Amino acid sequence: MNWKPQTEETAHSLLKLTGFGKALDDGQIAGLDRELVMAILDEAGRFAQSEIAPLNRAGDVHGCTFDAQSGEVTTAPGWKAAYEAFCAAGWASAAGPREHGGQGMPLVLSLALQELWNSASMAFGLGPLLTQGACETLARFGSEELKAHYLPQMISGAWAGTMCLTEPQAGSDLSTIRTRAEPDGKGGYWLHGEKIFISYGEHDLTENIIHLVLARLPDAPAGTRGLSLFLVPKVLPDGGRNAVRAGGLEHKMGIHGSPTVSLLFEGAQGRLVGEANRGLHHMFTMMNNARLHIGMQGVAVAERAWQKALAFARERRQGRRPGREGPVPIIEHADVRRMLLDMRVKVMAARAICHETAWCMDLARQAPDAALRAQAAERAALLTPVAKAFGTDVGVEVADAAIQVHGGMGYMEETGVAQLLRDARIAPIYEGTNGIQALDLVMRKLGLDGGLAMQRYMDGAARIITTAKETSSLAAVAERLAWALRTLGEATRFMGAAIEARDERAQASAVSFLRLFALFAGGLALLRGAQAEADAQRIFLAEHYAASLLPETAGLKLRIMHSGGIVSREALDILRGDTP
Ligand SMILES: Cc1cc2nc3c(=O)[nH]c(=O)nc-3n(C[C@H](O)[C@H](O)[C@H](O)COP(=O)(O)OP(=O)(O)OC[C@H]3O[C@@H](n4cnc5c(N)ncnc54)[C@H](O)[C@@H]3O)c2cc1C
Repeated sequence: MNWKPQTEETAHSLLKLTGFGKALDDGQIAGLDRELVMAILDEAGRFAQSEIAPLNRAGDVHGCTFDAQSGEVTTAPGWKAAYEAFCAAGWASAAGPREHGGQGMPLVLSLALQELWNSASMAFGLGPLLTQGACETLARFGSEELKAHYLPQMISGAWAGTMCLTEPQAGSDLSTIRTRAEPDGKGGYWLHGEKIFISYGEHDLTENIIHLVLARLPDAPAGTRGLSLFLVPKVLPDGGRNAVRAGGLEHKMGIHGSPTVSLLFEGAQGRLVGEANRGLHHMFTMMNNARLHIGMQGVAVAERAWQKALAFARERRQGRRPGREGPVPIIEHADVRRMLLDMRVKVMAARAICHETAWCMDLARQAPDAALRAQAAERAALLTPVAKAFGTDVGVEVADAAIQVHGGMGYMEETGVAQLLRDARIAPIYEGTNGIQALDLVMRKLGLDGGLAMQRYMDGAARIITTAKETSSLAAVAERLAWALRTLGEATRFMGAAIEARDERAQASAVSFLRLFALFAGGLALLRGAQAEADAQRIFLAEHYAASLLPETAGLKLRIMHSGGIVSREALDILRGDTP
């Protein structure tokens, strides 16, 4: 089945559910108006469909190959040509700052483009996503000399970027990173160490690869406060090959088209980016950007899976219905419709949360008023872990449901739906596992401004719900959301008290809390979508969401409040097998 670019849905979410549409109407976004935004989305959709989507299967089946002698990695047939076409068409430079040759698109729009690349092929979309994050980090923290030399090439896509954090003993906990950086006495550094699981760490798509690496200086403090960020190019400015090489390709469950390698730094020449020992802080610029984009990867795969399931359900005939002759298309069975509708609204909800987060990030950087910038930064910080975790969970859930809709054919590789699940499964793990996202939300973000950031979010939501209650067609949905908001409020107070009491139940319930928050935020987005367009279909989908997904929030609240046993001594003993 051919995937159809979801430009209309994206445009609805971008223009009606964030402040981006109004900002365009008010002429606040230099060089862009609604018409141009639509033209960009349409053209990106065409490119993704004609140039990238056809590679998706080849990337999965063929994967990448590694030459142990040269250490070179070759991507699947057709990938290099498609990547070159991608750069030549200017898509690589969409988000880059104008002063370094980029097009300076708002993040929210470049995120919408990322959705299209990743729906076409998640393994392909990952590369430009990482380069974009590396550019942003370098633009923010790099010296003028580094920026001048590297940014124009990276922004154009001629050179790619990576992020090198993970080591065998250092995954979620980066405090144990061992890679060392020794001063070379001339202002540079020699890097020694091994990184694993590095996406696009070696490949044939570009002539140079610019690694952003976390490492320790001599005498650096222990833990994350002793990490510094280094730029380590594969090819040095004098054209020589740097002492960094791929140790081998990782053999993965999915995204086979994306080369994931272990990287060996054997006295590789590097340059410090930003301040010594502030590397993790600087890397967080890249990680926050990348977390949001990974959330959108989940949405992108989910969209493709839902389209595929819908097409299959319209065609496949099984079973009978009273008054109809012969087997009917399975879409006529209520249980199949349940799956399809749940898939549809989850994708819409997760997309809207990602767009809202991106728009807050845009405002945090560019709003004219300092108070508005601060508020937007606070909201973006609150929503980023929600966007990452919910977007990627939805990716897996919807891809899984798509297999179920396909029945046995979903389990067969030739339908391509199994690939979507295999691909989507990495997203809740990389860029900080979803468990770590939930801890970030609960342990850091709930406490922003003494808890007032969350309160402001809930107050804003309450205002939207109150207004919606006045429209008769939306009153029922608004009522259910009001109830879910009270549930969220109770759960928030419970978590606040647990955190204050240093009760480990806060950590134990973090994932449930994030899910509750996300389900509410998604429902609010669908309500706003129905408010903005007032068409029967959007109202119906908001009603379906309110009736089918929001009830889960009640169970989550109960789980949060009553699952204290998880943190007991007994639980640990049982799991360890220590109980007699
Ligand atoms: C395909 C792929 C591509 C990747 N690309 C990159 C890349 O480009 N660059 C890069 O640097 N890394 C990359 N990674 C690594 C990835 O970011 C890590 O795998 C991820 O951060 C998790 O680390 P880990 O695998 O060591 O798991 P662990 O940290 O060992 O976690 C295992 C489990 O324990 C949980 N856990 C760990 N600590 C805590 C805690 N404090 N509290 C509660 N739960 C906890 C986790 O949530 C998880 O469920 C990639 C990984 C894969 C598989």
